[in-house]
Amino acid sequence: MIIQKTSASRIDTFDKDNFSFGTTFTDHMVVCEYEDGKWGDVRVMPYGPFPFTPAMMGVNYGQACFEGMKAYKDKDGDVFLFRPEKNFERINKSAKRLAMPEVTEEMFLKGLETLMDIDREWIPQGDGFSLYIRPLIFATEEALKARKSEKYMFAIIATPAKAYYTAPVSVLISDFYSRAANGGVGSAKAAGNYAGAFYPTDLANEQGYEQIIWTDDATHSYFEESGTMNVFVRVGDTIYTPPTSERILDGVTRDSFIQLAKKRGIEVVVDKVPVDFVINAHKEGTLKEIWGVGTAVVTSQFEAIGYHGEKLMLPVLSEEESYAASLKNELVGIQSNLLEDPFGWRVLVGEGVAEKA
Ligand SMILES: *Cc1c(COP(=O)(O)O)cnc(C)c1O
Repeated sequence: MIIQKTSASRIDTFDKDNFSFGTTFTDHMVVCEYEDGKWGDVRVMPYGPFPFTPAMMGVNYGQACFEGMKAYKDKDGDVFLFRPEKNFERINKSAKRLAMPEVTEEMFLKGLETLMDIDREWIPQGDGFSLYIRPLIFATEEALKARKSEKYMFAIIATPAKAYYTAPVSVLISDFYSRAANGGVGSAKAAGNYAGAFYPTDLANEQGYEQIIWTDDATHSYFEESGTMNVFVRVGDTIYTPPTSERILDGVTRDSFIQLAKKRGIEVVVDKVPVDFVINAHKEGTLKEIWGVGTAVVTSQFEAIGYHGEKLMLPVLSEEESYAASLKNELVGIQSNLLEDPFGWRVLVGEGVAEKA
């Protein structure tokens, strides 16, 4: 690994109490380029732009995928990643599906850890703060040929994040548009999956809904995902979530929620979730909560679901009553080293500050 540190850190311009998520980037990034059938040196270098031409294949043919993960800093200044090996496995699953070269452990896990160590000052400390990390792979060959690229770039960049209060949202159950199809790329974190979702989401926004609950492409009668999150439904005191598939992304947050809920003794049913089942439960008054889960906001709770022109309101639960809220608190507690980690999910970055002191 080649490490080239910046001579002009921007850390003094970073105001923890006033920054914009997603557009403030840390001092460094990890970069590795693929050419002649192999990855080159892994480099940690100052964050910055690269030149590209409109003939870049990633832009024309969409060979691009990414990951989303977070690092947390505890009160002693120790930095933790959360289940990073899951993201490493998944980016390679995505790469394979998009006919892109898989990345190595040195590039992803070692690169990640080195970047976190070097940019640790950028990880805001305190309740709800974290650093959002974006590893990505995209095609860089300059060629207008409709085939897979022969050149790629892997990069890891990072942006500070804070927990902002997210009010419960209204979501529209899709009866026309699909996020993913059988045999398609729904289980890959492909950039194009996001592009395809923006227009239907705009249409939902126009109808007064913030998000879409995606249903299966063939019949639109089963819940699949919610926006860019996995979805959970609570009927009575049982939690339902659809199994992952070639259409449903295998979320790390989803898996963690299932394990945490089971540990508490909550019944979790991983099976097809029919739209009818949810609508009937609402009619009978047994539908208690629906929520989405993903790394970025951890949990997004829903206040209403729209279906066939009707808006069905969900009950308002207190923090204690809500599985979504209490499971989220437990998960974030584990991620940020406030709670015991019975599953061994946290990974300490470097040797740890507390050890050295
Ligand atoms: C990233 C993503 C998720 C959530 O995955 P996490 O690993 O929990 O962040 C869920 N669905 C889609 C479509 C995604 O792209």
